[in-house]
Amino acid sequence: MQWPLEGQDQVAAYFQSLLRQEKLPSSFLFAGPPGVGKWTAAVELARGLLCLRQSPEQLTGCRTCRSCKLVEAGTHPDLILIELPEGKNQIPLELVAGSRERRGQEGLIHQIALRPDVGTRKVAVIDEADTLTPEAANSLLKVLEEPPLDSVLILISHNLEQQLPTIRSRCQVVPFRPLLPEAIARLVQQLGWTDSAQEAQRVARYAGGSLRQARELLDPELWTLRSAVLDELARPRPRGFAITEQVSQALEKLKQPAQRRNRAVQILGFVLGFYHALVCRLAGAEAPADEELTGWLDRAEPDSWHPEAAQVCLHRVVHALELVQRNVQVALVLQGLWEDLARQTAHRRTPLYELETVFDRSPGVAAV
Ligand SMILES: [Zn+2]
Repeated sequence: MQWPLEGQDQVAAYFQSLLRQEKLPSSFLFAGPPGVGKWTAAVELARGLLCLRQSPEQLTGCRTCRSCKLVEAGTHPDLILIELPEGKNQIPLELVAGSRERRGQEGLIHQIALRPDVGTRKVAVIDEADTLTPEAANSLLKVLEEPPLDSVLILISHNLEQQLPTIRSRCQVVPFRPLLPEAIARLVQQLGWTDSAQEAQRVARYAGGSLRQARELLDPELWTLRSAVLDELARPRPRGFAITEQVSQALEKLKQPAQRRNRAVQILGFVLGFYHALVCRLAGAEAPADEELTGWLDRAEPDSWHPEAAQVCLHRVVHALELVQRNVQVALVLQGLWEDLARQTAHRRTPLYELETVFDRSPGVAAV
């Protein structure tokens, strides 16, 4: 099967079956976490649907016909691609329905209704459709209800819950799964992002199934920060303020709030890995740990930990992750977390909280 997208075979099989039966619906919602290939799949599918030479069942274009060349150049008149404008956090109504002055005479709704210019179809893809303004999303309903003949519209969503139910119900939802670590490790090397198999495996382990995350994890500064944070947490008496200082310095270097939030999630992922491995070791279970992590675990003197004290730390990190992902102020969440982890580590023979109450009692939470 010629499908340039590793790890999403079920998506390829689904489209091949639809195309074979000549029952292609006109609207799709590609749903799944960021960085698993939704955009790549949509563009590849569009290339295949528009190609003048190959059958659409190939799910990709021949790359040599006039249509494929236009897609490659980004100038295909029958392919409408909408992305979140740079520096914006919403897709404005203009891109969908045209500017105020030219409403209905430009934008996706207008373009998709025109007769195909090169081939026999029109294809439109909207990336990050979760960020459509309510007006833009509502204006799409008309196209979804009465799609122009031979048109295909693909909406891409990282969070299905954020889609209006009226949109969700009018589209075929195509789920995309997180990629397996082995697939990520292979892709990272195939794409030439690293030559080192060891590094590829290392980033794949922490990428959470996302190729985009894997790419960010190739930043060496992140691993330096990981060492600094875990060096401190593995001490018998960690200094919460020292971690706060290190982490805030690293976050301040990043310009966009979204980048800082993402970096915080990455650091929390490392810390989570540390406590998960500690909890596993205390339970006598084998934890997935690389050499460095094993070193930190040894230094953390596992024999001196009460198993529930380690679980309190693990739960605290999970909770902090949830808060950061829910847009609570990052600095506040992290500072409270480091202080809690430091205190619990210093008193590791006794759990500081009942496990059930970790989520209510952590100071980082009370302060928010
Ligand atoms: Zn072609």
